[in-house]
Amino acid sequence: MELIKTRKELQYVLNSDRNRALSIGLVPTMGALHKGHLSLVDRAVRENDRVVVSIFVNPTQFNDTNDLKNYPRTIEADAELLSLYPAVYIFSPDVSEVYPEPDTRRFDFGPLETVMEGRYRPGHFNGVAQVVSKLFEIIKPDRAYFGLKDFQQYSIIKNLVAMLGLPVEIVPCDIVREADGLAMSSRNALLSKEHRAVTPQIYRILQEAVIEAGIYAPDEVKRRVIEKINSNALLKVEYFEIVDELTLQAIAGWDQKGKKVGCIAVYAGSVRLIDNIVFDK
Ligand code: AMP
Repeated sequence: MELIKTRKELQYVLNSDRNRALSIGLVPTMGALHKGHLSLVDRAVRENDRVVVSIFVNPTQFNDTNDLKNYPRTIEADAELLSLYPAVYIFSPDVSEVYPEPDTRRFDFGPLETVMEGRYRPGHFNGVAQVVSKLFEIIKPDRAYFGLKDFQQYSIIKNLVAMLGLPVEIVPCDIVREADGLAMSSRNALLSKEHRAVTPQIYRILQEAVIEAGIYAPDEVKRRVIEKINSNALLKVEYFEIVDELTLQAIAGWDQKGKKVGCIAVYAGSVRLIDNIVFDK
């Protein structure tokens, strides 16, 4: 593992790797690494000769300044975790390294960004597209790895790559969960003990929703999920939508063609958590 702070230094080592025909994988993260991130790194290491793990808390994707301020930053522990991977470069740039000038680009993802995360976090996906396109430009990876926990982000990135015609393969990676079902997230570290204790209900209720899909119409399944989660005083649903996996638009009925995904955002106190589940119907 090698820790690199500047784009110049990173490009220097990557050019030499590329000249030796080595393949390059990229795992973009905001740090505070956990086993979910490491599952992406493991896969990237299996499938590429060199892997860049970027650790960068990207200011342009935060629409809430408190969230940006409180986001956990644990670069020393992160470097320690990645020290076991000989083929990994950590790229941990300063903001001025990624944005030497303010990024004024505006991306338009159409209906993909007007729902769910895009609706409740205006500007979020524009910031994600800005930073990911910059990372792609700096690193020119053969493959880039994204977790399906951020299902809408994965759709947006696929769209970005298609829109820009970039020669990078986007690899989706399964959600990694704690033993009690809570999807791993850097934000879990911010939960109080009381909130942490109730958060496994989110995935349990999503699993019940998959069973209830055999009984109720989508709207009723949706209503029941929201009601059950909100019946816990420590949890508050921001949205729950059952959407088509490609269009991200709410489904009209279970007989609609294509895979369906139930996507949820829940506040546990001031900590915002997201998760999703596939409906195999
Ligand atoms: P983040 O640091 O939260 O921006 O996440 C960096 C990458 O790791 C994103 O592609 C996430 O989707 C992915 N990721 C985060 N948590 C998990 C998880 N529990 N399981 C799988 N992938 C994850």
